[in-house]
Amino acid sequence: MGFFSKEECNFCGAKEGFLGRKTLLNKSGYICKECEKKCSFLINVSDFTPEGLEKHMAYMEKQNKIYKEAYEVLDKKQKEKFVSSFRGIIFADEIAMFEVIDPKADKKVYKELFRYDQIDDYQTYEIENTDSQNGKKYAEVGVIINLMSSVKDIWGNSEYAEMSNVHPYVKELKITLGKDVDTLSSTKGIIDKLDKLFNRYEDRSLLGNIKSSFTGTEEEKRNRDYVKNIFGTAGSMLKSKITKNEDDIQKAEEKKQGLKDMTENLATDNRAKYTKIANSVEDRILGN
Ligand SMILES: [Zn+2]
Repeated sequence: MGFFSKEECNFCGAKEGFLGRKTLLNKSGYICKECEKKCSFLINVSDFTPEGLEKHMAYMEKQNKIYKEAYEVLDKKQKEKFVSSFRGIIFADEIAMFEVIDPKADKKVYKELFRYDQIDDYQTYEIENTDSQNGKKYAEVGVIINLMSSVKDIWGNSEYAEMSNVHPYVKELKITLGKDVDTLSSTKGIIDKLDKLFNRYEDRSLLGNIKSSFTGTEEEKRNRDYVKNIFGTAGSMLKSKITKNEDDIQKAEEKKQGLKDMTENLATDNRAKYTKIANSVEDRILGN
């Protein structure tokens, strides 16, 4: 069991020395370098038991299938790419999922995607340069995306453990976008994209000018459409009650459903919509 002894990998049975293996949680087993390639670059294998990693590899295999069959086949125009020389994100609205670009991911056997509806929150981060000789203000800048995740904190709790569709392995994505820079400008593309996805985007250049004073902000427009929809639905329902006409009843039902969807999307910042899209993709590919 010492430094020089060889230990058997729990997954493929290969015998590996100290440098070719990692020890699993509470010394519950070992994993060799080759088998570790079947795990996400975003997890630490030493936090898992052999059973836990077995489940993780099965999850990654499914992710890879979705990646190949639903994401890779998309047209270039259906992907929005924001990539620095360190990390990046490619968004695919069509399937309501995104890919994280990282050199470490390239060395893995399986590809993985993240669902839009798993995004809880996001913000820019910056690390100030302590070396004043350097001249640049920030040592590093980027975006942090917090995921709704069933991963437990150090107290053994998870806010989202009981919810479906939350991410089973990753709680936070740190997307480094610039090093030794003076501004946060490299983060603008991803933040704008996320703001648009979750109803937070306002075109600052339009605020205060003639156009926005006529049309209002994006949020005002959404609220106005919503109120219009409520009155429209109420009108249709009243009419169908008076006429008892099949067509009118049908129309009123459709409007009611439309209003329900709109309410859900406003309340969840569009997550309800993304859940539907991502679920249908997963059902199609994995045949659930
Ligand atoms: Zn192995």
